[in-house]
Order: sequence, then C-alpha cells, then structure tokens
Amino acid sequence: MNDLEKLHMLYEGKAKKVYKTKDEDKFIVEYKDDATAFNGVKKGKIADKGIVNNQMSGILFRLLQEKGIENHYIDTLGDREMLVKAVKIIPVEVIARNVAAGSMAKRLGVEEGKAFKAPVMEFCYKSDELGDPLINEDHIEALELATKEEIDKIKSYTLKINEILQEFFCRKNLRLVDLKLEFGLFEGKVILADEVSPDTCRLWDINTDEKLDKDRFRRDLGNVEESYQEVLRRLKK
Ligand code: 5GP
Repeated sequence: MNDLEKLHMLYEGKAKKVYKTKDEDKFIVEYKDDATAFNGVKKGKIADKGIVNNQMSGILFRLLQEKGIENHYIDTLGDREMLVKAVKIIPVEVIARNVAAGSMAKRLGVEEGKAFKAPVMEFCYKSDELGDPLINEDHIEALELATKEEIDKIKSYTLKINEILQEFFCRKNLRLVDLKLEFGLFEGKVILADEVSPDTCRLWDINTDEKLDKDRFRRDLGNVEESYQEVLRRLKK
C-alpha cells in the first residue's frame, strides 16, 4: 500500500478533512468548498475554494519554510490535498491585526480601515461550543492549553510570519489586514499548522481597499469565487 494513501478520516472540520496515512507521522488534509461564518450560523459553498486554499496555503507554507519558519507542510498531493506533519493542534487561534476590521472594529468601536502603528495580537480559545471566545495569556496557561514557553514562541513566530506575509502580499498589490494562525506540537516543537488562505486572512486590494477574502461571503458582497481566484492569480504572478 502506498504510504501516501488516505486511511480513515481522523477529523472533519468546517473547511477541511484530516486523514491518517500508513505513516503515523503524516496526515493528509483535504480542503473542502464548504464555507461557514459566525460560528457556523451562516453556511454555504464557495465553488473551488478548496482548490484555491490548498494551492495558496502550499505557496505560503513553502515561502515561510524558505524564510526559516517551520510548519506542517510536506507536499501538495492533488487539487485539494496536502501532505502534512501529524501535529497535535494547540487549541488557540492566534490573530495578528495590522488594520482594524471585523470583530475588533466592532468590539472596540474602531473605524474599519484604521492602520495600527504596530501589529495587535489576540488569542481565541478554539471551541465551537463556546464560539471561540477571546482569551489572554493567563487563560491559556490556567487552562493548560499551552505553556508559558510555548506562548512566547507562538508570539514571536506570529510577529515574524505577519512581517513576511505583509511584505509578500504587498508585492502582489494586497494589503494584509489581519490573519488567524494555528500552531501545533510535532516532536516536542511548536510549529505553524492549519492553513493560510482568504478564509483565514483579510486581504484588501492595496489601491482600492476592495475586499478579496471571506468577508465577501460573510457580508454578502458578491463575487466571492472571483475574489478567491483573483488572490491566487496574483500570488502566482
Ligand atoms: P475577526 O475576529 O475579526 O472575525 O477575525 C480576525 C481574522 O481572523 C480574520 O482574518 C478572520 O478571517 C480570521 N478568523 C478568526 N476566527 C476564525 C475562524 O474561526 N475561522 C477562520 N477560518 N478564520 C478566522
């Protein structure tokens, strides 16, 4: 049997399925077209989103590896499939914000589009039942989601990743407004995992501020598929 064959499904999330392989250190991730927003309240499909997110994550994970950021990416196997290291996900979503938008703009009454002098970092507890609540470093330690050392690593990797991606997207005429990252443990080390795509980043056209990310789906702005394809087209240029 091929080592890279999918065995049984380990987990199905809102946007991806994760399969075991014969090699216990490797998983296969399959990217779906399903889209959800507002903690699953709004549901739909974005045609070929899985293909775009798989390709885009592949491009960005390879870029980050070249820049010395360890991540779970091993190889792209097909249109929707990626071979990854079998990390144990740390149940914390890490958000870096360069520009006010989304939940932060709403919660704090900041005008969407206000650029920050330095990135703002936030943590959310990854829990569908609780609606991914905002938490702080003390909560992460108290709930034993990660150790102090792991949190420090996650913070410094996040700042570095945000810097690398901001510069890369800028060259593609895209403004990285914010991004959500997830990290995992592999062989005792904290590494970047999950995906980096228009589902997990806010990307605006650098000249017009046109939204080219999942907000087009969340806010019913139209041209959802076209925007995902446009981001991928720019990244490949
Ligand atoms: P906000 O907190 O403003 O809704 O989201 C901030 C950033 O993190 C956005 O780029 C958003 O796409 C991403 N993000 C936050 N939570 C989630 C989540 O549960 N799933 C996904 N895919 N992205 C999220």
